[in-house]
Amino acid sequence: SSKPYPNSKIVRTICTHCAVGCGIYAEVQNGVWVRQEIAQDHPISRGGHCCKGAGAIDMVTSPKRLKYPLKKVNGKWQKISWEQALDEVSKKLLDIRKKDGPDAVMWIGSAKVSNEMAYLQRKLAAFWGTNNIDHQARICHSTTVAGVANTWGYGAMTNSINDIRHSKCVFFIGSNAAEAHPIAMQHILYAKEVNNAPIIVVDPRFTKTAAKATDYVRIRSGTDTAFVMGLINAIIQNDWYDKEFVRTRVAGFEELKEVAKHYTPEEVERITGVPAKEVVRIAKLLADNRPGTVIWCMGGTQHSIGSSNTRAYCILQLVLGNMGKSGGGTNILRGHDNVQGATDMCILSHSLPAYYGLSDGAWKHWCRVWDVDYEWIKSRFKNKKYMNKKGFTLGRWYEGVIQEDKITQYTPLKAVVFWGCSSNSQSQYHKLKKALDLLDLVVIIDPFPTMTAVASDKDNVYLLPSSSQYETEGSITNSQRGIQWRYKVVDPVHECKDDYMIMQELVKRFGFYDKFFKNIKKIPEDITREINKGSLTIGYNGQTPERIKKHTDYWHTFDVNTLQAKGGPCDGEYYGLPWPCWTTEHPGTPILYDISKPVAKGGLPFRARFGTKYKYPNGKMENLLAADGVANPGSEVNGGYPEFKGIVPGTNWKTDLSQKTIKEAIKRGMAPFGNARARCYVWNFPDPIPVHREPLHSPDPEMIKKYPTYDDKPDHYRVYTKYKSEQKLDWVKRYPLILTT
Ligand code: SF4
Repeated sequence: SSKPYPNSKIVRTICTHCAVGCGIYAEVQNGVWVRQEIAQDHPISRGGHCCKGAGAIDMVTSPKRLKYPLKKVNGKWQKISWEQALDEVSKKLLDIRKKDGPDAVMWIGSAKVSNEMAYLQRKLAAFWGTNNIDHQARICHSTTVAGVANTWGYGAMTNSINDIRHSKCVFFIGSNAAEAHPIAMQHILYAKEVNNAPIIVVDPRFTKTAAKATDYVRIRSGTDTAFVMGLINAIIQNDWYDKEFVRTRVAGFEELKEVAKHYTPEEVERITGVPAKEVVRIAKLLADNRPGTVIWCMGGTQHSIGSSNTRAYCILQLVLGNMGKSGGGTNILRGHDNVQGATDMCILSHSLPAYYGLSDGAWKHWCRVWDVDYEWIKSRFKNKKYMNKKGFTLGRWYEGVIQEDKITQYTPLKAVVFWGCSSNSQSQYHKLKKALDLLDLVVIIDPFPTMTAVASDKDNVYLLPSSSQYETEGSITNSQRGIQWRYKVVDPVHECKDDYMIMQELVKRFGFYDKFFKNIKKIPEDITREINKGSLTIGYNGQTPERIKKHTDYWHTFDVNTLQAKGGPCDGEYYGLPWPCWTTEHPGTPILYDISKPVAKGGLPFRARFGTKYKYPNGKMENLLAADGVANPGSEVNGGYPEFKGIVPGTNWKTDLSQKTIKEAIKRGMAPFGNARARCYVWNFPDPIPVHREPLHSPDPEMIKKYPTYDDKPDHYRVYTKYKSEQKLDWVKRYPLILTT
């Protein structure tokens, strides 16, 4: 990269605005980040950059950054010193712990911090003596994990973003990648242009991704499961399924057939609004173009029936025999840059790192890794039993406390620490606001003032300014399970403190510093090594700091064309040693699930089996595809909000900070985007298509009875937006999807 600033240095770092994980060259002059440039040689972005990434520098230079610690006194924010902030916060937390027990505190971690920091956040809750811990992933892809893990094991994207280039067909359902993951879309468009792959977009809204599709299917909001089951049925009934794959690897196929046969094309038309003929045509398209990939995002997951959706998407790939193959798989695009890593580190109330769960065996394993006495950890809990019990999720806490807008239940919590997670993506925010008022203490640790900070009306809030992702370093795991090193670009600005340092200061004051950092001398590398040592379940073992750094340092050494010419799974190194990566010699696993061997010889079997408890058409739709013995775990933990049914448009919040950057980017012909989360800059792109309400079908009382999860309001049977081709064309023309600068 060229360096127009004299005496400047270039730092390779990773974009923090979504889980694609694009490379950025940051130019630093005299300790100041002065310029950024796209990384031409990065193996994923390969010179591509979207307008979100173009504003990465704003994370550091933004005038909206929190500059020093603040405390609310008589309704006004008062500047305090770090010393005072840390002393007061830790004293208050310790007092609460002493009086009400460790479970009176909840720790909210973050999908925006490094793996190392996420790991420390989970470890902190364990050392504090509680399982009350949660983070953003709860509301985005917990339903994905439920659907995917219950079908074939790991709750993660099966292939790699680059590998989508090998797809013969791309089936989008609940993803608007052209806006939310523009650089991933670049690889997808390659499949369209080079392989002639049909791009099928299923969405109630005509999105920018739909504008790039060969086939657009508009379904009624919330009817994904029925539509996909209709496809599965058509594939089975017409004998288009992969018989060999199903015979040798798929358990429960007969039960699947039984369930699917109720979803005749006509029935699917009645439910989804998609003409019966179209259902069969799309099924044929999928069957004729294999291997194909299924891509989804939060449009598929954020439903009260989210895990049914994700389970159906997986089963579709099973009948097509698209698993374990280059160009196939279920490719789930994550939101935050490190949502996969933070989930793997299990900032979650139901598991210790690497999905070990909360059994005694799991605790003993991690105590060995931490080099602490199991009895000591046990003594940290108020009651030994609580060690093995799930703690609160954020939603479970405030929904339990506030019902029908009234405080109905005594809150067992006295303090919540939000560390890199605002709560503005939570549904029923007004309830959270009320619940916050009941607390004695709210601590926000974040580079920016968050909505949560101003939600509480009481003088119970502390705001501690932390480093942005570019003022600290560590590894991050992108959507494709690939791990990259995000180098520090500059030192923390203003009085902001590095997250690791805040952690050190807090645990010192909590009195267990020596135990907590026993084998961690060099930060963050020794933390990575602790993760390598302990995470035997999912293969985080071979990604040592040295190997991850090497991957990042030598982007330019990867010969993309050679790798691509191989036409199949590429060198794992190229993808960032995607887990599982079992040893320091292991190349990582760009494509999950080995189907090279038969099941009897260690190849993987998959499950298309249904729980016996719930059978069509009894019971609720959300139970229909419940995994064995587990009734909709993802939706359950998500809160199962009864009114939260539709496909959720991506964009909710905006910061005017980013508006300038993004408007500028649009002027330069870059893609507007619509991903929305705290600490992401967001462009709240106004929908330029006038909203029409045109009834397609009148509400059918029989259908309401039959599918009680459908909203019984007539409006839900209407299509909200009517696509007008002239306007649409104008819209596309005005904002062309150009993915590179
Ligand atoms: Fe950043 Fe855009 Fe790449 Fe996502 S697609 S990592 S937001 S540049």
